[in-house]
Amino acid sequence: MQHFERGRLHGHNIVAVLPGSAPEQQAGHVVIGAHYDHLGHGQTGSLALFGEKGEIHNGADDNASGSAALLEIAEAFATLEPRPERSVVFVWFDAEEQGLIGSQYYVEHPRFPLRRCAAMFNLDMVGRARDGRVAVLGATSGEGLERIVLGAARRNRLDATLVPYMVPNSDHFSFYRKKVPVAFFTTGLHADYHRPSDDADRIDMQTLVRIARCAFDAARTVAATAGPRPAWHEVRSAPFGFMALELLEGLTGREGFGKLARALYGPVAGAVVLPSEHGLEVLYVEPDSALAEAGVRAGDRLEAARGGLLGSRRHALGGRLGRLRLWAALTGPPATLELRRGDRSLSIPFPPRHDAR
Ligand SMILES: [Zn+2]
Ligand SMILES: [Zn+2]
Repeated sequence: MQHFERGRLHGHNIVAVLPGSAPEQQAGHVVIGAHYDHLGHGQTGSLALFGEKGEIHNGADDNASGSAALLEIAEAFATLEPRPERSVVFVWFDAEEQGLIGSQYYVEHPRFPLRRCAAMFNLDMVGRARDGRVAVLGATSGEGLERIVLGAARRNRLDATLVPYMVPNSDHFSFYRKKVPVAFFTTGLHADYHRPSDDADRIDMQTLVRIARCAFDAARTVAATAGPRPAWHEVRSAPFGFMALELLEGLTGREGFGKLARALYGPVAGAVVLPSEHGLEVLYVEPDSALAEAGVRAGDRLEAARGGLLGSRRHALGGRLGRLRLWAALTGPPATLELRRGDRSLSIPFPPRHDAR
């Protein structure tokens, strides 16, 4: 138990350690975390509507889902044979809702030096999957971490979308700032977010179990063998507009806001793309998406859609417009995608023409 004070706030992080088969000083460790605090009767941070004020906020999704998953993950690790070489540290953080205070305290007073922390996995709001999907944010912060997460997702039949953005909205951010590679699992915002209606009957248990298994699997892969820790990389921070639109979707329950947010900033129609000067670099294509079926692959660069250029010299805005153009092309009447694969230029019809095969 790790006690901390900040003004009138008294908090307790709960820290458990599973020693690795190799000494931590040599092999390092992995941290898996979830915050267990919530909003009480909604004194601070509540979005309760007028009639709900003062009611208990149970926080089934935020974050009983993550803390319960972490209990199961800890149990699975405890019975694992053979024991991983790296030690595993499980942390239930307090005072996340007041501004990541528990995790900030932990990174200043870590159980083991953070320079030996190979990766931190965070679970916050993992109970409200839509169509069985989970988003994993920030995994580009660790060399090879995305591959590990995707492998774990595949083995556990989990539909995971990697989002190459860093958002300072949960405890992983405290570790990221200390240059620890992180991966943040979340099923995102919804209309019951920070309201008394965030209750257990709305949890998608089936997907929650898959997410817990996937996080366990990914953490086990990193912990299994000691070696050099994955190199840390800076991750682009999500623009404020992205978060605002996502929040609007969560609060209003209208999918249009989220769609617009993702078109402007996030994964487009089953692919994660990064804007660049010459187009949209494709980082990842979901296996069953229409883009995959059309023949677009990771590593391609989408240069134009329906004749409109997708990149621009002025990166940020150009890229955003590029995503929006791509989204418009993929959701509108049939289009042609111009792309670059290595030194070849390809024209691909979209939607894919089945008769042409
Ligand atoms: Zn939370
Ligand atoms: Zn919260």
